Amino acid sequence: MKYFSTRNKKLDFDFKQIFQRSLAPDGGLFLPKKINKFSAKDLKQLEKLNYIDLAVAVIASFCEPTFNKKELKILIRKSYKKFKKKNVVNLVSINKDILLELYHGPTLAFKDIAMQCIGNIYEEFNKDNNEITNIVVATSGDTGAAAISALSDRKNINLFILHPYNKISKIQRKIMTTIGGKNIYNIAINGSFDDCQKIVKQMFADNLFRQTINMSGVNSINWARIIFQIVYYFYSFLRMKHKKINFSVPTGNFGDIYAGYMAKKMGLPIEKLIVATNENDILQRVINKGIYKPTKVKTSLSPSMDIQISSNFERLLFYVLKSNDSEVKKLMHNLEIKGYFKLNKNQKKIIQKDFAAFKVTNKETKKTIKKIYKKNNFFVDPHTATGFHAANKIKTKYPCIILGTAHPYKFLETMIKATGKKIKKPSQLSKLMARKEKYNVLSNNTNIIKKYILEKHYEN
Ligand SMILES: *Cc1c(COP(=O)(O)O)cnc(C)c1O
Repeated sequence: MKYFSTRNKKLDFDFKQIFQRSLAPDGGLFLPKKINKFSAKDLKQLEKLNYIDLAVAVIASFCEPTFNKKELKILIRKSYKKFKKKNVVNLVSINKDILLELYHGPTLAFKDIAMQCIGNIYEEFNKDNNEITNIVVATSGDTGAAAISALSDRKNINLFILHPYNKISKIQRKIMTTIGGKNIYNIAINGSFDDCQKIVKQMFADNLFRQTINMSGVNSINWARIIFQIVYYFYSFLRMKHKKINFSVPTGNFGDIYAGYMAKKMGLPIEKLIVATNENDILQRVINKGIYKPTKVKTSLSPSMDIQISSNFERLLFYVLKSNDSEVKKLMHNLEIKGYFKLNKNQKKIIQKDFAAFKVTNKETKKTIKKIYKKNNFFVDPHTATGFHAANKIKTKYPCIILGTAHPYKFLETMIKATGKKIKKPSQLSKLMARKEKYNVLSNNTNIIKKYILEKHYEN
């Protein structure tokens, strides 16, 4: 597969190149030149497959020729060894809704599903190469932990993780700052997730710096994150045996739900993709009103979604603007100069054909957690709760699958406040929590972070 940038269709990179670069040289995001389509008959064939074989069938075209099907299968199988469910994910019925539990990996959030594979891809690429790769990643709490679990103690890799200081849950922080080996550097930034992501993007845009440290990235702007997430949309649809289906997705950086959009482009009969946001509702505003305008980040009960700049939205924009790369560039330029961009009526209509969006307040989140606990004796975490609430607010014809993005234990304090109950500690966490936490607090300043990384990047 060959890839181009949302801001330049002429670009021609292979999977290995876009994996290592993460962000396109012009600041755009990578997209594939072709999207394989599955017919209704093809989908029927896929029904019989277990999760790993299904993953190979769905993803292979994106990774060839860097990986052939056989290599990809070995890689994926190895990646899901640490998951608590044989088929990686798990489906549960809750009243009239269906919950897709994506949090049975080593760090208890859906991020593990792509990240474990990404760890093994780096391992493959580094086999015949003695250069050290320095991965820099911004996290709103879960990506960091998933990346550490996937990359800790790997040869020739350093991992620098930027998280917003004091803005993630205590357990999220503990997992992140206790499980890592020598090659892991946790940096707490005095700022928001958006500030962390901005610093990472500025580093990618600085060619000299990027080359000096041989920089790479594992945020959801990395296309590899998206493709491994397409698989569970297929898997859950094929297990439900409905003619059509909806998905409600707790959303921040627009990565997870973009994987659903790809699944639809690949032929999955999806009625609507429901964007559930917390009070950081930029996506709700752009989908319902057509204005993309970041405001100040608010702290919410679902911290992994406390994001105002939804980077992957640019990938949707490319198709909404009918593959016009210079139009994408223009809107992104507007965003930078004026602080917003506007979509016209027709563009808004195109988005609303595939997407619906609903903003869920803290109060509604808490109420939803409590309601599901009372009625079903079941705990859903605050992110997943936004998905449930949004699903119940948006009218659809077909049933809805809600993506369960994190294990409720990760947000224990909120869970206790909402239900009055304590949750049993999942076995994944039994050992790590006692270890000493390791992180540095640094100021919200790209030059200071660059300096810190330059000092450390050879130690391995
Ligand atoms: C990352 C995360 C999200 C948001 O996913 P995006 O791909 O950024 O939209 C939602 N819930 C949880 C628990 C997360 O960790």
